[in-house]
Amino acid sequence: MLVKFFGQILQKTDNFAHIMPNVIAIVGRPNVGKSTFFNRMISQRKAIMDNMSGVTRDRHYGFGEWNGKTFTVIDTGGYVQGSDDIFENEIRKQVNIALQEATVILFMVDITEGITTLDEEFANHVRRTKKPIYIVANKADTPNKHNYAGEFYALALGEVFPVSSQSGSGTGDILDEVVKHFTDELSEENTGLPRISILGRPNVGKSSFLNVLIGENRSIVTDIAGTTRDSIDTYYNAFGMEFMITDTAGIRKKSAVHEDVEFYSVMRSIQALENSDVCIVIIDAERGIEAQDINIISLAVKNKKGIVIAVNKWDMVANKTSNTTKEWIEKINFKLAPTDYLPIIFISVHEKQRIYQVLEKALEVYRTRTEKVSTSKLNEKMLPEIEKYPPPALNGQYVKIKYITQLPIKNPTFAFFCNKPKYIKEQYERYLENKMRLHFGFEGVPITLIFREK
Ligand code: GDP
Ligand code: GDP
Repeated sequence: MLVKFFGQILQKTDNFAHIMPNVIAIVGRPNVGKSTFFNRMISQRKAIMDNMSGVTRDRHYGFGEWNGKTFTVIDTGGYVQGSDDIFENEIRKQVNIALQEATVILFMVDITEGITTLDEEFANHVRRTKKPIYIVANKADTPNKHNYAGEFYALALGEVFPVSSQSGSGTGDILDEVVKHFTDELSEENTGLPRISILGRPNVGKSSFLNVLIGENRSIVTDIAGTTRDSIDTYYNAFGMEFMITDTAGIRKKSAVHEDVEFYSVMRSIQALENSDVCIVIIDAERGIEAQDINIISLAVKNKKGIVIAVNKWDMVANKTSNTTKEWIEKINFKLAPTDYLPIIFISVHEKQRIYQVLEKALEVYRTRTEKVSTSKLNEKMLPEIEKYPPPALNGQYVKIKYITQLPIKNPTFAFFCNKPKYIKEQYERYLENKMRLHFGFEGVPITLIFREK
């Protein structure tokens, strides 16, 4: 890849590990059990994704975790209906997604039916990839059905794993294999640098924002063949800090098929988000905060990423008074409730207003997110708060919180040791979180409180 020097870019990506997100694509003819398997693999985060508008109904993606590795799963299955043409299209569509997006392809068949003509057709299309493929022989609900798994080696795609998506049996074995191809969570451990992603709906000004930061010629870089495929990480140096920007801009150019544009852009945002420490979420001031913005922010909160909100196109807001930003902040916090700790900065990329402030804030959030609070400080501040307002008794049971400590993991997580962890209710947890934020700040940083038996 070319090495370009634009403004403050010192090097292009090559010196840093290119970010390959961990993606499993499930392909196969209808009714073999793809969506059942998919649902088994993903966690509750799917629900958020389904709310993202514009994503075609017949395609699903979600997130899973196995052996400490997180991944994205795509259920490529649509509905094969009507003419052969549509069927051909369907195969092509599924296979293209798998070939382009996947790290590992799972080819699903039905063990109770054996190899069908459709399986063969799918297999012929998939076989040309160099990506790892495993055959998942589904509906192997009983041990004797496992005996039929061998016949699928005839598809010449790869190893066959009998599973029952319905009961879950065998799914662990296949995941053990699949995650071998995955990287561990990519973050500052790998490069030693904070990773920042710039997220937002189409047209909020993400590319413009990046161009101002990185230099107008950046588009040349994204035109190099292949660079639009993966997220591009750019090394950057400003304010005496070094960091990486995980770039999702330019994605929209990639897909020729119109209906796929939004899908890919959402996919990319998710991947960029997952690979970053701090997300700058851009909102369009002309439109105000909308459902799609809230989805993106919630996803970042759920993923425990650092977050900065930038309200762009502030130049377009007429009749601003000294109260305007305050009103906006109140409105945004109201819509995001109960999340009310995100920094909100009003910017105009066109007028180059407060762009650098956004970046400085993002780095501050990054530092906050990595700092550890000492156990003594935690207890000194929090135990009196707990004493002042102890957890309410439940069924005559009193909960006693003895001490608090921050766990040695990346996302700020605090363990409250107590006698009856199950008796701590959400409302009290919220009280504790508010007090934590009162004493320790954590602006822009989601924190996790867990309750453990002493
Ligand atoms: P898709 O079209 O490939 O996404 O398939 P679905 O997930 O919709 O499943 C098709 C049918 O197979 C449904 O009726 C499922 O309940 C059923 N099915 C899925 N997995 C299993 C399994 O492990 N065992 C059995 N017996 N049936 C299954
Ligand atoms: P992206 O899709 O999020 O990458 O958005 P773009 O960077 O392509 O910007 C979308 C449109 O918004 C373009 O027409 C930009 O010129 C315009 N835009 C970006 N930033 C500003 C701004 O600060 N003020 C105004 N008025 N328009 C902006």
